[in-house]
Amino acid sequence: MNSSRSAPLQNAASWAASKPPLLRFLTACHADFSTENGGNVADYIPELGKADPDHFGISLVTLDGHVYEVGDSRIPFTIQSVSKPFVFALALDTLGAARVESEIGVEPSGDPFNSIRLNADNHPFNPMVNAGAIACSGLIHQAKGDGAFEYIRQALGRFAGRELDVDEAVYASESTTGDRNRAIGYLLRNNTVIKGDVGAVIDVYFRQCSILVTARDIAVMAATLANRGINPVSGEQVMTPYAISRALSVMTSSGMYDYAGEWIYRVGIPAKSGVGGGILAALPARLGLGSYSPRLDSHGNSVRGIKVCEALSLHYDLHMLNRSDDARNSIIADYNIGKSASRRSRRPHEQKILAAHHQDVRIIELVGTLTFSNVDYISRRLAAGPRPHFIIFDLRRVAAMTRAGARLLAEGFHELAAFNVTVILSGIKHSSPQWEPLGEWVKGTSNLRNYHLLDDAIEWAEDQIVYRHGGAIDSVEVTELSEQALLAGLTAEELARLASLGAIRTYQPGQQIIAAAQPAVSLFFLRSGVVHVRLHGGMRLATLTAGMAFGEMALLETHRSADVFADGPATALEVPLRDFERFREAHPRTGERIMRNLAQLLADRLIVANTKVNLLTEN
Ligand code: GLN
Repeated sequence: MNSSRSAPLQNAASWAASKPPLLRFLTACHADFSTENGGNVADYIPELGKADPDHFGISLVTLDGHVYEVGDSRIPFTIQSVSKPFVFALALDTLGAARVESEIGVEPSGDPFNSIRLNADNHPFNPMVNAGAIACSGLIHQAKGDGAFEYIRQALGRFAGRELDVDEAVYASESTTGDRNRAIGYLLRNNTVIKGDVGAVIDVYFRQCSILVTARDIAVMAATLANRGINPVSGEQVMTPYAISRALSVMTSSGMYDYAGEWIYRVGIPAKSGVGGGILAALPARLGLGSYSPRLDSHGNSVRGIKVCEALSLHYDLHMLNRSDDARNSIIADYNIGKSASRRSRRPHEQKILAAHHQDVRIIELVGTLTFSNVDYISRRLAAGPRPHFIIFDLRRVAAMTRAGARLLAEGFHELAAFNVTVILSGIKHSSPQWEPLGEWVKGTSNLRNYHLLDDAIEWAEDQIVYRHGGAIDSVEVTELSEQALLAGLTAEELARLASLGAIRTYQPGQQIIAAAQPAVSLFFLRSGVVHVRLHGGMRLATLTAGMAFGEMALLETHRSADVFADGPATALEVPLRDFERFREAHPRTGERIMRNLAQLLADRLIVANTKVNLLTEN
């Protein structure tokens, strides 16, 4: 642990107690398999034979970029064949898929990695055997000439998230003893797979195999493969999702040499091994694993590395073909404005219209990742019910969207447009890359609107309903106090008396009328315009229109609990609290009536708040 950590109270026991289970599991694997001494360190490249056979490191990287490390996870070793899927991906992105795919096959060979054999078309079987890997290095050499190796080194560094060096001794050793690979190189040139200088191409290949990595590095590289090419630690999009998915494909079919079939059957995680002792395993959408232990079995795969992968897959049931998903878990709430309206307080005639048409505005709040299955389920749920005029999808809790999910969603929007349904999205954080595919597909859809806040979206839809059914909204002026819910039941005389206590105020658009924490010394009755109440610096609690009161909490509290601003030009009758209290004392019956009205208003607000909370838990 880091000695500079400034937490003297945390003793060793409390650290041990806070170990995440996955770290415990990896630690246990490391302890268990440390006693496994089968296999031999590769020595056909003499310098590799110098590796310490007892070195053993494991690292696992999650897709949110957390790095677990156990044992010798920072001991450098040469990457060897673990470089192959990355250079293949690099070739795909550099030369184009058509070119690369016409030169190199993707069928498993069933042969050892160093077999001097091509397929029936005289092309390498796949990019994971030496012939295919050397062909990839040749393609990069064609594109980049003398800069080929540096180009590869930099690309691998982006996968690892750091600059990678070369082990010059291993490079020199392989170069002096690598005639078998030269033989493969000449066979490739004989069949015009390599077109230029075989020596130069083989040199690029030897150097690329001699790049130094650690178990941690290859775990980050694996996690980048598992994350559609975005390095989860650095955040960089290293290669295209196409190249990444094809690299994973050849790892799946041929990554573990002539043990590949057995591997994918038993472990079910795309992987690549190297004679340096590394195994890299990448489980798409889940994790990247790197292990280092130089003792190899007869196929050239690290014995302990295989054990780690097998244990991980078995213990957590991670076989990639043993998956299912619940399509229904992305809807967190589904309701209409009858159940939960916007925070805008409505005048009685508006309330009547909205109550009669509450089914016209449907709100669906979504959560998690929108996938093919989730979006299909949502669209069927929509199709089953009565068709509303407005559908609001609240996406503030949506973390991501797959391309399939985005495509289905866009198709759903087009379908709704055909029925004149207006789709409103809320909660999209702007410029987040996950919305790009959706943005691209919904371009030109005229029935689509966007609101940052769900409540604004609901309010807008409600306004449309009110307009459609003949209710005017902001233009009215209410000069009488008789519409005030707080003053319900008062006689005309009492109302006139109250009115005479106040003064009429005029506010400019945006002007602050009440400030939170200030002494509460008056009540307001809105005569015209719109005001909104918001928590200090925070969310909007209510929008009020003519005929409604605000600051009425002054009857109960000594200080203001929220801010109030005028949305547009507004006028209000301000009644000083002292005069109001004197009025209540002079008319005790009426005073009690007002307090009962206030209790009713607060109870109504509480019911609304409870319904909003409940909507999120009942689904
Ligand atoms: N450089 C090694 C070779 O070509 C790589 C082989 C491997 O890791 N399987 O022999």
